[in-house]
Amino acid sequence: EVVVNRIAAGEIIQRPANALKELIENSLDAGSTNITVSVKEGGLKLLQIQDNGSGINKEDMDIVCERFTTSKLQSFDDLQKLTTFGFRGEALASISHVAQLTITTKTAKEKCAYKAGYIDGVIKGPPVPCAGNQGTTITVENLFYNIATRRKALSDSKEEYSRIQEVVSRYAIHYPKTGFTLKKHGENRATVRTPNSSTKKENIKIIFGNDVARDLMEINVEERSYRFKAEIIITSPNYAMKRFTFLLFINNRLVESTAIKKAFESVYVTHLAKNSHPWCYLSLQIDPQNIDVNIHPTKHEVKFLHEGIIIGKISTVLNEEYAKSNK
Ligand code: ADP
Ligand code: MG
Repeated sequence: EVVVNRIAAGEIIQRPANALKELIENSLDAGSTNITVSVKEGGLKLLQIQDNGSGINKEDMDIVCERFTTSKLQSFDDLQKLTTFGFRGEALASISHVAQLTITTKTAKEKCAYKAGYIDGVIKGPPVPCAGNQGTTITVENLFYNIATRRKALSDSKEEYSRIQEVVSRYAIHYPKTGFTLKKHGENRATVRTPNSSTKKENIKIIFGNDVARDLMEINVEERSYRFKAEIIITSPNYAMKRFTFLLFINNRLVESTAIKKAFESVYVTHLAKNSHPWCYLSLQIDPQNIDVNIHPTKHEVKFLHEGIIIGKISTVLNEEYAKSNK
């Protein structure tokens, strides 16, 4: 049973950056306004995320790492409305099967924090009282210690760190009301640091610099009939980049879509000089009922109903706006 679970977990948690993505989303779901990530050896030795969210009830601590334990679904109706893809009560359980996991947490109603370790989905012992502020710290150590092949495949900690940095940066832009900090454990200097109650544009400037931020266009597209809303922030055609950077959130989850990327590429090539590209952020809200929920959560590629039509409509508007501001 444990081995089967480990293999399944190793498929869900493929590298430090996607474990982190799940942990960031949990912190955001808990209402955090500050999230700090610290990392050792590209997250393979240590991946720690500290938030100031609601915390986890002491009574729930023994079950949070059991598979399918979630406080986020109350009914089948909720399942239909769920705006995230995949992962329902599987993230912490999966991580506990492929790493040493420790949770320290404090809710508003407790006088102190509680700490517990987990292995293979099971709590190691009763939660121990300790000092701590309200919120949750999740510590993931020695990721893939029990999957030698996976650990070997991920030996380049620099590469893993840059993927982590990418995930933190992107969430920081999408959630400007929450402050994000990323640092290497033991170092004072942060790699990423955004204030809370910032704005998307301000965070783009902080993270990507003035080259990207000096002339951004904001484009909104909304269609009632196909039930979608798109927010685009893109560099104007007057300031092209050396490569295409594309940040895509669908229903507030960082995802990838080759179809959308291709559509955007075919729009901008007609306006920009050869080897010139935009920097682009797209946040797409679609009716959760139109998302293909049968796609396994490990698939970063999303599919949804009316995909072609929706992408077409967004591309048309982008094309018009891009043409207008091309000087
Ligand atoms: P899911 O997010 O789908 O519910 P997870 O395995 O990611 O499943 O988390 C399990 C549960 O643990 C959550 O439903 C939530 O109740 C609790 N939890 C996890 N992380 C946090 C956090 N940072 N703050 C508060 N509660 C958390
Ligand atoms: Mg989760």
